[in-house]
Amino acid sequence: MARKQRTFADKIAKGTGPRGEKCPVCGEVIQAIMMVRPYKTEKGTWRYRKMMVNVCKCNAKEVLVDVPDTI
Ligand SMILES: [Zn+2]
Repeated sequence: MARKQRTFADKIAKGTGPRGEKCPVCGEVIQAIMMVRPYKTEKGTWRYRKMMVNVCKCNAKEVLVDVPDTI
């Protein structure tokens, strides 16, 4: 029946789903996202910095909101 097929499909989906560690705090899978942030050089020109950021529920608000560049 359709139900059996669905279960099988779910198993496959699980196997190919998002991989990565789960955050021990919030239980969400930690996702690594690429962020591009503009920053101003001493010469007054703008450049872009790429960086990988690990995001889960714990820091999603801080990361996804445009925070001032402090690095
Ligand atoms: Zn978390």
